[in-house]
Amino acid sequence: MSEIDLNGKKALVTGGSQGIGAGICRKLAACGADVVINYYRSKEKAALLASEIKAEFGVHAWVCYANVARSSDVADMFAFMDGKTGGIDILVNNAGAETISHVLDMTEKEWDMVMDINLKGPWLCAQHAGRRMEATGGGVIVNISSIHDVVPRKGLVHYCASKAGLKMLTKCLSLELVDKNIRVVSVAPGAIYTEMNREEISEFGEEKFKSWIPSGNIGDVEDIANAVAFLASNLSSYIHGADLYIDGGYMNNTIQYDPRPPRKNGSNSQGQRLS
Ligand code: NAP
Repeated sequence: MSEIDLNGKKALVTGGSQGIGAGICRKLAACGADVVINYYRSKEKAALLASEIKAEFGVHAWVCYANVARSSDVADMFAFMDGKTGGIDILVNNAGAETISHVLDMTEKEWDMVMDINLKGPWLCAQHAGRRMEATGGGVIVNISSIHDVVPRKGLVHYCASKAGLKMLTKCLSLELVDKNIRVVSVAPGAIYTEMNREEISEFGEEKFKSWIPSGNIGDVEDIANAVAFLASNLSSYIHGADLYIDGGYMNNTIQYDPRPPRKNGSNSQGQRLS
């Protein structure tokens, strides 16, 4: 495979201040893209990342405040980007949030917060980006979903529903925008080391956590960032509306519930060989 080349591309990464988003900003910049790093609460982390990226990769990097759940903030963020870059080639809808609550205790505020950040935000950003990409001849939108867009999990009713919505948003956007030369795809991580799950990993114990994952390890932000860079590049130009699950095999994992190992001699359940 040839090198991923994003030279001259202009990218916006929502929630780029830390975790997976920060990893994506770094990788896109390493491939040559200028990056707008969106932050909500973590202004200092975003500013530090921008200066590191500029020094390390020699590209332009800016930071921009926005709560992606608020339409006026999103409009201001895209106006900021217009002023700095004059357009957008790559949008990564990465900003996300969760709370962990039993469905019977979950509040309307929690539900709205998670749905607004994880689902409404990507729609708002895609609308602004899509209009600009149409005007300049095309682009790529990568939505950061989760294995929980298809795998249900206790305590995450709102999160799972929001990511399932994001999976379908990806497919519908892809269908509607393909004739404008805009590709829309999603990347769905399993367990990745970030602030979002640091507490849970230590609560259950790292070894226990790893035992749920066939590859035996928790992913790094680079595992996600590498895939995003590929999907943002022309190397993936025939990939439309697809979901890429990056989870160390977690979604294949029936080990917890079905410990039966494969047989060495290829026999059936009655111990008979069929050939
Ligand atoms: P994280 O470390 O908690 O970072 C979340 C990011 O989202 C932060 O940069 C935060 O920005 C931003 N954010 C939150 N609310 C926002 C808002 N209203 N407006 C703008 N930005 C906002 O989480 P992460 O693990 O990197 O998660 C990144 C994405 O990957 C999320 O969509 C998450 O659902 C998904 N994901 C993560 C995992 C995992 O194992 N880590 C697994 C599956 C999916 P500020 O800090 O500036 O507020």
